[in-house]
Amino acid sequence: MSAGATAVTSEYAVEILGVHKTFGSLEVLRGIDLQVRRGEVTVILGPSGSGKSTLLRAINHLERVDTGLIKVDGELIGYRQKGNRLHELSEREVLHQRSSIGFVFQNFNLFPHLTVLQNVVEAPVSAQKRNRAEVETEARALLERVGVADKADAYPRQLSGGQQQRVAIARALALRPKVILFDEPTSALDPELVGEVLAVIKQLAHHGTTLIVVTHEIGFAREVADTVVFMDAGVIVEQGPPQQVLDAPQHERTRTFISRVL
Ligand code: ADP
Ligand code: MG
Repeated sequence: MSAGATAVTSEYAVEILGVHKTFGSLEVLRGIDLQVRRGEVTVILGPSGSGKSTLLRAINHLERVDTGLIKVDGELIGYRQKGNRLHELSEREVLHQRSSIGFVFQNFNLFPHLTVLQNVVEAPVSAQKRNRAEVETEARALLERVGVADKADAYPRQLSGGQQQRVAIARALALRPKVILFDEPTSALDPELVGEVLAVIKQLAHHGTTLIVVTHEIGFAREVADTVVFMDAGVIVEQGPPQQVLDAPQHERTRTFISRVL
């Protein structure tokens, strides 16, 4: 760093350092280190039970880690540092922090009793205290962007799975997030609806949004990822550009996994 530079924000959108997480006697994350640069797309692959969802949930503080640190945009998740001591954030502070991190779930998780537009407007108004009229204008533009503007006044149950997931993506974007986390966003969709959701995610990638995507869609990883991470049994087995991890994996476990999902 040059003299006098004040590194308030980090070059990384997300930094994960030495993260361990245990459920009962099961060590689900066994020392995870991962850095995600701003504007890059990281795809996480790995067998069921390898800890992928737990890792995403930890970034959003939906799970508390046992040891290790997570930073988003240079800011510690869940804690405030005073001198060399860490103090836990209050529930309210955690909610505020979480509101700058988008999360797109496998099962959409839209609020069933709210319209599509209300689903997108809710968090920016309640958690970020933004002006409702302004947020509504932005929400309509986001619904347009993901191709569901005509459904603004419909309820989630009136939409296809692909449409619901695109609304969920618009809802995440409305938070103006520092990063969007996707947990198997197309796994619950009928095969013919997978493409329309992947196309929207691809478009975000090209706009420079920082994305972390857990998926089994190898073609998507190859085309869109800057970095592919392969996890197994709570560790990152290998990571690198898609050509390296997908076409020339160094580890037997990676080779076996890729040959099974292709
Ligand atoms: P993945 O997303 O890679 O399939 P998960 O992170 O969901 O893996 O789960 C990793 C392991 O942790 C699994 O064995 C799962 O059963 C276990 N696990 C996840 N969440 C909990 C929980 N809240 N309580 C107990 N065990 C859990
Ligand atoms: Mg999972």
